[in-house]
Amino acid sequence: MSWLERFARPKVRGFFRKDDIPQDLWEKCPACEQMIFHRELENNQRVCPHCDHHFRLDAVKRLDYLFDDGEYQTIELPKVASDPLRFRDRKRYQDRLRDARSETNQDAVVVAHGTIGGQSAVIAAFDFAFLGGSMGVAAGEALLSGARLAVLQDSAFIVVPASGGARMQEGTLSLMQMARTTVAVDELKEAHLPYIVVLTNPTTGGVTASFAMLGDVAIAEPGAVIGFAGTRVIEDTIREKLPEGFQRAEHLLEHGMIDMVVRRQDLRASLSRLISLLRDTPPTAQVVALNPAPANDQPE
Ligand SMILES: [Zn+2]
Repeated sequence: MSWLERFARPKVRGFFRKDDIPQDLWEKCPACEQMIFHRELENNQRVCPHCDHHFRLDAVKRLDYLFDDGEYQTIELPKVASDPLRFRDRKRYQDRLRDARSETNQDAVVVAHGTIGGQSAVIAAFDFAFLGGSMGVAAGEALLSGARLAVLQDSAFIVVPASGGARMQEGTLSLMQMARTTVAVDELKEAHLPYIVVLTNPTTGGVTASFAMLGDVAIAEPGAVIGFAGTRVIEDTIREKLPEGFQRAEHLLEHGMIDMVVRRQDLRASLSRLISLLRDTPPTAQVVALNPAPANDQPE
């Protein structure tokens, strides 16, 4: 070992201790491959300033961006049997759940209430990081709880899915959530409350086949993949090449499957406007006194 390594290296290392260097200062945009400074990305609600690519959001950030001033209260969700089928593939389902909880510290769906544009609202936001945002019994319970809270509070209900579909580790119990979440939507409709869905990347499988397509208004974020089966599966089945941008939000808007494509920065304002449009009862016609008809027009 030379004097340079013995003396100079430890000194230089001393200047730049590992924990002084913040990690993840830059993020690479997966669409345009530009490097973006993390603060710039956060200030832009995690939308690429170069190409407008909408990065995936976790449930907490989603709620921060949608509620007024980022203020809201999350609700505690009913406890469910966590592994009813004692499922095991390469790994035990119990272990997968435990790992997912340690990473995201919550479940696949977070429900919160607050205001949007000063109007009360309940939001159920999916977290794709939690086992692909898959819909198991817990997600079904969360959506039912959210809908019932909206009815209790006389609020609008907004769901923001980001999901690969059913949770296969819960087998048929997962599929049953499609019917349960449809019932949740019905409860809102019976109470004449607005139900709005904000489809984010990706919204697929059993989620698309149930509550996600039942909104009074279906909004999507730009570029979001929305569909039931994946492109490759469809191409292999029908042996046809699918058109460019198939299953993207813009394509679905063009073909009448959704109502609006809204950029993330404009979502809160759009939701606020929609809630007030859906809630405000139209003014009743005013009763105007008619002038008495001239005497010669009077019937004999
Ligand atoms: Zn980009």
